[in-house]
Amino acid sequence: MSKPTFVIVGASLTGAKAAEELRAQGFDGRVMLIGAEPDRPYERPPLTKDYLRGETEREKAYVHPGGFYAQQEIELVTGVTVTAIDPGASRVTLDDGRALGYDRLLLATGAEPRRLAVPGAGLDGVHYLRTLADCDRLRDRLGAGGRVVVVGAGWIGSEFAASARQRGLDVTVLDPQPLPNERIFGREIGTFYRDVHAQHGIDLLLGEGIDSFEGNAAVAQVRTTGGRRIECDFAVAGIGVVPRTGLAADAGLAVDNGIVVDAKLQTSAPGVFAAGDVANAWHPFFQRPVRVEHWANALHQGPAAARAMLGQPVSYDHIPYFFSDQYDIGMEYSGYAPHWDEVVFRGDPASGEFLAFWLHEGSVVGGMNVNVWDVNEHVQALIRARKPVEVAALTDPGTPLDWLAGQSAAEADREKSP
Ligand SMILES: Cc1cc2nc3c(=O)[nH]c(=O)nc-3n(C[C@H](O)[C@H](O)[C@H](O)COP(=O)(O)OP(=O)(O)OC[C@H]3O[C@@H](n4cnc5c(N)ncnc54)[C@H](O)[C@@H]3O)c2cc1C
Repeated sequence: MSKPTFVIVGASLTGAKAAEELRAQGFDGRVMLIGAEPDRPYERPPLTKDYLRGETEREKAYVHPGGFYAQQEIELVTGVTVTAIDPGASRVTLDDGRALGYDRLLLATGAEPRRLAVPGAGLDGVHYLRTLADCDRLRDRLGAGGRVVVVGAGWIGSEFAASARQRGLDVTVLDPQPLPNERIFGREIGTFYRDVHAQHGIDLLLGEGIDSFEGNAAVAQVRTTGGRRIECDFAVAGIGVVPRTGLAADAGLAVDNGIVVDAKLQTSAPGVFAAGDVANAWHPFFQRPVRVEHWANALHQGPAAARAMLGQPVSYDHIPYFFSDQYDIGMEYSGYAPHWDEVVFRGDPASGEFLAFWLHEGSVVGGMNVNVWDVNEHVQALIRARKPVEVAALTDPGTPLDWLAGQSAAEADREKSP
């Protein structure tokens, strides 16, 4: 009998970690990892940080060393796009003319930048930042100096702006929201990041969107919805991403804010799985679907999908986590908090070292540590406990967080035991 074939579509972090896990679990069938980009799998966080600024080599961005895939007998196919999947016939079609049968299929097709649809959006010098190729173009731009307008003060826009400033460019950031990321994290954290950027000399135009890009062949100025004209040498738009669901939708798989998967990461088609930025996965802890567009989710969900493809019991319930580095401000956030009642602090944000907690009905639903390290697991334990915490203890730097997390977890366990 021939050995089974597992096909992974999307050769980025999710796909690469899934392929690695298949071999780590002893799978000795055929593993095909197919990616549209020319590079072998790489990580994207350096693309707004050290690699963008020219401080680290390209090699550091790759998920695995060059020889890894051959060594592991993973057939890495780069520069090739999967154009169709047929779950009924268990086949995928590639744009190089091949059609391949599979026994299990993983869709790790990720997300792509939302595009601006304003006049002038097609001018040269209007950039997006998702791929190494995008980053290489922007790295050269940063090397040349000058003035840049960043559209969108979300994480990508903010990190790009910080790196551009660190390279000495004049940077203007515009965003229709009154504060960076205010909708997701609230006024307090929005104010903190606004002030950080202002202190580093960024010109923040908040409450103003983009009306148009203007220039002859290349962008020369940006016109805001408030009627201002800002001169620039180039512009970068970071206005969010959309999950790449086309293949799944065309094949009739359930799609709703991403490819819909259960806690085993299986799609509506048996034998077809999805993970990473593209997957809207049923979350056993939150009891609802959650789609996460962050590095740690790709890192862990890819391997979880691989185990599920092998028939192992999987119930993916990681608490969403992400990190961001801007100037000398390092931050980690854990949680999933569409609603909260208040944000409380341990430490003073003005000092640049603090923790923030999002509370809903007295329980911690989200936590951010800024320039404070090794607390993340305690923050996550507080979230998992789902127990009201005493705000005085939570905000008191003298009360060890691990102790507080232990108390909450013990209380939650007591309630669960008969
Ligand atoms: C610039 C940048 C900086 C970031 N920084 C951070 C950070 O600091 N912290 C953090 O937590 N997260 C960060 N992220 C988010 C993180 O990188 C993503 O969550 C992660 O890359 C998702 O991985 P993925 O493999 O699921 O999808 P992707 O990385 O989007 O990869 C999907 C891959 O699939 C390929 N593909 C799609 N369709 C097909 C097809 N039909 N055929 C073949 N191949 C296909 C694509 O070409 C792509 O290579 C950042 C993202 C970007 C863009």
